[in-house]
Amino acid sequence: MALFSRRASTPAPIDGVDVVLADLDGVVYAGAGALPYAVDSLNKARDGRVLAYITNNASRTDASVAAHLSELGLATAPGDIVTSPQAAMRLLVQRIAPGSTVLVVGGDGLVTEVEKAGFVVTRSADDAPSAVVQGFAPEVGWTQLAEAAYALKVPEEEGGIPWIATNTDWTIPQARGLAPGNGTLVSAVHTAVGRLATVAGKPEVPIFQEAVARFSARQPLFLGDRLDTDILGANRAGIASALVLTGVDRPKHVLAAPEGSRPTFILGDLRELHEPYPEVSVKGGVATVREARVAIDGADVRVLSEGDRPIDLLRAGAAAIWSTGRAIFGFRVPEQLYADPFHRP
Ligand SMILES: [Mg+2]
Repeated sequence: MALFSRRASTPAPIDGVDVVLADLDGVVYAGAGALPYAVDSLNKARDGRVLAYITNNASRTDASVAAHLSELGLATAPGDIVTSPQAAMRLLVQRIAPGSTVLVVGGDGLVTEVEKAGFVVTRSADDAPSAVVQGFAPEVGWTQLAEAAYALKVPEEEGGIPWIATNTDWTIPQARGLAPGNGTLVSAVHTAVGRLATVAGKPEVPIFQEAVARFSARQPLFLGDRLDTDILGANRAGIASALVLTGVDRPKHVLAAPEGSRPTFILGDLRELHEPYPEVSVKGGVATVREARVAIDGADVRVLSEGDRPIDLLRAGAAAIWSTGRAIFGFRVPEQLYADPFHRP
């Protein structure tokens, strides 16, 4: 309602935040190029705040990610990048003695982090490693997976060594399409040995804990484009989150988001970080966001008013459906609610 849009005091998502943590693909860039408005909005977000990045991708070093971001116009130091191999080291130092030998399944990015953490790298199970750490690299093949299986043959409850996976993303985007990601390769070892890896990256919490600790964050805000990794992980870590609709997940996914994967804010693009975020109210089965109003009527979701902005209609639709505690497949949802006028890469 007009009442809300006139309230000058409505804060923006960025207000009160001391550390902005951003996912990369689908938030900052798509492929090699920056997404619309991302660079300007993030540079503005840095005013008086720490701006840092979280990535599950274990095949790039923090320095190479920082160089890429700097080329895009976001001056970034390697220390501003939190990677899943770094989160994996956080887990390793808690579980094995300093200077232990670690079997690495992965590439140079992971080897570098293992060495930086003071461990000795081996590629052979015959060297009696104290742990296995596994991350994606294009050169990981049967030989490396077999060494992991040999090293992990004893179950952990019978004194077997720890197995840490940097992340379990099933796929990894490549120029020619989606290819098997680290989760697929971890799963191959799992199938062979019957053990489960401990995971460091999103949607697990170690990568968020590493970021909060490194930047001494008191009120961080995480920006992501995926509900099932970014937003779920931020929620598990107790961090406020914004889903930005410039990447993987679309309006229909937002409406269907399960309880643990619902973001604090829903943004069409990163400009909205700096704009007043409208009040979202749900009363008597009617959700109102500015001029947009959506009602729940039994199994029907009804648009009472589209409002002026598609993003407000989506926010109202999500609030209405989420407030019921019912699953999305129990509803008839009008097409205009999951229309997708937002930018997609
Ligand atoms: Mg992403």
